[in-house]
Amino acid sequence: MGMDAVVVGSGPNGLAAAITLAQHGLAVTVLEAHDETGGGARTAELTVPGVLHDVCSAIHPFGIGSPFFRTLPLEDHGLVWRFPEVDLAHPLDDGTAGVLVRDLETTAAGLGEDGDRWRAVFGPVSEQYDDLAPDVLGPIVHLPHRPVLLGSFGLRAALPATVLARAFRTDAARALFTGVAAHISRPLNRPSTAAIGAFMIGAGHRYGWPVAEGGSRAITDALAGLLRSLGGEIRTGVHVRSMSDLPDARISLFDTTPTAFADIAGRPRPRWRYGMGAYKLDLAVRGGVPWTAEPCRRAGTVHVGGRFEEIARAEARAAKGRMPQRPFVLVGQQYLADPTRSVGDVHPVWAYAHVPHAYAGDATGVVLDQIERFAPGLRDRIVGMHVTDPAGFEAYNPNYVGGDIAAGAVTVPQLVRRAAYATGAPGAYLCSASTAPGPGVHGMCGHLAARRALRDLTTG
Ligand SMILES: Cc1cc2nc3c(=O)[nH]c(=O)nc-3n(C[C@H](O)[C@H](O)[C@H](O)COP(=O)(O)OP(=O)(O)OC[C@H]3O[C@@H](n4cnc5c(N)ncnc54)[C@H](O)[C@@H]3O)c2cc1C
Repeated sequence: MGMDAVVVGSGPNGLAAAITLAQHGLAVTVLEAHDETGGGARTAELTVPGVLHDVCSAIHPFGIGSPFFRTLPLEDHGLVWRFPEVDLAHPLDDGTAGVLVRDLETTAAGLGEDGDRWRAVFGPVSEQYDDLAPDVLGPIVHLPHRPVLLGSFGLRAALPATVLARAFRTDAARALFTGVAAHISRPLNRPSTAAIGAFMIGAGHRYGWPVAEGGSRAITDALAGLLRSLGGEIRTGVHVRSMSDLPDARISLFDTTPTAFADIAGRPRPRWRYGMGAYKLDLAVRGGVPWTAEPCRRAGTVHVGGRFEEIARAEARAAKGRMPQRPFVLVGQQYLADPTRSVGDVHPVWAYAHVPHAYAGDATGVVLDQIERFAPGLRDRIVGMHVTDPAGFEAYNPNYVGGDIAAGAVTVPQLVRRAAYATGAPGAYLCSASTAPGPGVHGMCGHLAARRALRDLTTG
């Protein structure tokens, strides 16, 4: 006899989909190509034995604030959130830094003449985060739960990030916002590029930007543990290449991109644009990164790219397929919140740059130069390094086409298309970050896709 449901891929969304189905009494099996579960939330000893590096995701404002994860007993399955003293720092060339901490007032006070503006722009988002999240982290095309709230957030979110950045006067506040907005991996003068920045800052002031104790794999390990406790099964080392690889099941959910699904289903590939690539350095650093700006030494995340105009230029250039001389680099120092990842005074440092899609050059030097610009002497402290270029990301996880870690460009038309969980093939659904609400470790794509499949099962 066949099972009720099969899920292809064990990333956070595949596991969230499987849990949702199992919670409704379905017999679920997850098939994962890798030897390990977890997709973009895995942790490994990439450099020095014992030093734990997050292979992909590192910082989890969306994880701790996920409307679905918050309903799950993930702590019972080992998940512990750890908080850095400073959530985010953004160093500037004069040795100062913009600083974001969970407490809105402390952040505002640190931003001097921009403090009141910061409070006015991001205070309402953080205060109403829990009411906004189901809509913003919802299926995009739907009737909002809180239309007025969503509307007032949407007015600002619809702006280009460069316009919202100019609402601030100081370099520190402008850069602090722009660095967060740049997580969208798009030219920052395009409409709606302010959205991720505003929402991530709101999440930061509501919940902080935590890391998972023991590494990001603790999140997917907890999801996998919960799934098993609900009777679900996970098979690793099974790469699904065609529908004939699937066991007999009533429904199938794919934690894959739309193009990968089309290949598996033997259908024509849909038009689906991929965005910029990621070029990542995992460093083992003796004594940590010698940042000039003191708050950076206490920060879980450091955004490296200088002033806001410079970041906007670098992002625009990378989006056009040209390698910036000074790329935008995101640096993670998760060990500050979670010392279990270090060995003695050798610490794991996570850093990735936005580079052109499928960039095939060697960006290691420019990424290190960019960090050294704000932390002279870094190279002397590096005792181990692991490099992942865009091709390396795609080889590691087929969802990261051309190194695009968002599983598809986050453009307005694609945001709307992301809302389509049904594939047109009977009983088959997409449930990955290529669907709404998009990238991040929040499980909402998987949860919402599973709910759509359950609805079709009961009505259909
Ligand atoms: C470098 C990097 C940094 C990031 N930083 C953050 C961060 O700090 N915070 C954050 O929230 N998010 C971050 N992300 C994004 C986040 O990791 C992803 O958005 C998230 O993992 C998407 O989850 P998913 O389940 O959709 O897909 P994935 O996590 O990509 O999982 C897909 C899974 O499906 C498997 N699979 C694919 N095709 C097949 C097949 N045909 N057969 C069997 N198995 C298959 C893959 O092996 C993989 O395990 C980062 C990603 C990267 C790469």
